[in-house]
Amino acid sequence: MTGKNISKLEKVISGGYCIGCGGCAVDDNNITIRDDIFGMPQAEIERNSFSDEICPFASTISEDEISDRLYKQNTSYDERIGRYISNYIGFVAEPGYRDSGSSGGMVSWVLAQLFLRGEIDGVIHVGTQRGSGYAYRVSETLDEIVENSKSRYYPVHYDEVLKSILGNGKKYAFVGVPCFVKSVRLLSLKNEDIAKSVKYCIAIFCGHMKTKAFSEMISMQQGISPSKLKSVDFRVKTKHLPASNYNNQVCYTESTGEERYCEPVPISDLYGLDWGLGYFKPRACDWCDDIAGETADLSCGDAWLPEVVNDPHGNNILITRNLLIDSIINDGIENGSLVLSSTNVEKVYESQAGNYRHRREGLSVRIADANKSKTWAPAKRTNASSFEVSARRQALYRHRGKISIRSHSAFIEAKNRNSFLFFMIKMLPYEIFYHFLNRRPIRGTVKTLYQYGQYAKRVFSASS
Ligand SMILES: Cc1cc2nc3c(=O)[nH]c(=O)nc-3n(C[C@H](O)[C@H](O)[C@H](O)COP(=O)(O)OP(=O)(O)OC[C@H]3O[C@@H](n4cnc5c(N)ncnc54)[C@H](O)[C@@H]3O)c2cc1C
Ligand code: SF4
Ligand code: SF4
Repeated sequence: MTGKNISKLEKVISGGYCIGCGGCAVDDNNITIRDDIFGMPQAEIERNSFSDEICPFASTISEDEISDRLYKQNTSYDERIGRYISNYIGFVAEPGYRDSGSSGGMVSWVLAQLFLRGEIDGVIHVGTQRGSGYAYRVSETLDEIVENSKSRYYPVHYDEVLKSILGNGKKYAFVGVPCFVKSVRLLSLKNEDIAKSVKYCIAIFCGHMKTKAFSEMISMQQGISPSKLKSVDFRVKTKHLPASNYNNQVCYTESTGEERYCEPVPISDLYGLDWGLGYFKPRACDWCDDIAGETADLSCGDAWLPEVVNDPHGNNILITRNLLIDSIINDGIENGSLVLSSTNVEKVYESQAGNYRHRREGLSVRIADANKSKTWAPAKRTNASSFEVSARRQALYRHRGKISIRSHSAFIEAKNRNSFLFFMIKMLPYEIFYHFLNRRPIRGTVKTLYQYGQYAKRVFSASS
């Protein structure tokens, strides 16, 4: 597969820009999704494939073009969040959603409403996988839809599940991170059966994906070997901590086969949970500028805003693009099921400001670097001159890329040595330099050392 016949899809895969969504594998049976050595699903092509127009990183169709086709009427536009009818902030008051959801429970509540009104027969979303970890699944009862709530910071692919429902005559809502929704939209443009089966798409906002090593890192620092790990509940709420300091809880299997749970631990006490550092981030995420799921009927995120972040129960920030979903939400507000207030694009941006900076401003730096080194990279709406970036911030964006790359290899070495301390030591110089570039040399370093201390405390109490 060399020379001028190389497809863009192959360039995506060989260049490390594949997020492993599985869209191309739905389109072409010669493509299989398999985990790479870092625990990241990746497309593998048997023979030449030209499923370019399905791939969110190879297609020439941008998020703007897709959303123009779907939502041009009845919506306003802002380049940060794409097309929108309304923006809201708040949570589900109806019992059974907020407490079991990641933020305010809005994704599961809207899915339930679509199901109860007969708009859909089921939901394609992510839930627990038999054995260990998480996977895409189909939920066709109300209980299943709600039971499979919560964010899974775990890499998944949807090809097998989507193929399994095609032609069954039923209608579904698909839930995914923005790039997954984009690939489902691209599939729907090409394949009428998919367009008919996937009636609604709901996006969850996305900072970046994590490889499977992220879960293993969380379990290893609590003394649980990756071979025993069953799953991590990434979003356990507590009554006394701000929503942003949610807990992680590890579930593992004893050698007797018995399932056990570690005590939930706040993310501030765990090493490597600062999302700004970008540990275990796939390269694709540094080439993605859709934070707000611009091709989805509804996008839901965490309202990381000072006015609500201290509420431990969690709040959503929402963007509606579909008239029916917007009216379902308004009915919910009127009948008291939802406690939502209207908000504006500024607030949506503010709730994800750091994410926007890295993914838009930082992307312009990455594009300039790729242009300079004549490296092929996916076409983006951002370009090299979209932003003026200071030298320090350029260095910060580049350093984050180095942290991600080093975290993948250092963790493999740490696993081979069965030593989490090895990983922490390997990453320490990267973290300290990051804090320096991020203008938090003292605060950042103290935080890192505190996490070292928490780790030492856990090791000590386990051995005494
Ligand atoms: C990798 C990742 C990164 C994220 N980054 C951000 C961020 O930077 N900023 C932000 O505001 N929000 C982010 N989120 C979204 C956020 O964590 C919440 O999912 C969102 O606020 C919805 O909360 P909820 O209470 O309304 O959803 P819930 O009612 O809890 O429902 C969540 C739904 O999402 C589905 N789901 C869970 N994990 C996945 C997955 N990996 N892929 C597809 N579907 C899934 C579940 O099956 C469920 O249907 C991220 C989520 C993921 C998975
Ligand atoms: S990102 Fe998705 S569509 Fe593109 S190559 Fe990877 S698996 Fe295929
Ligand atoms: S950051 Fe973009 S590419 Fe990465 S998982 Fe999220 S939506 Fe997909």
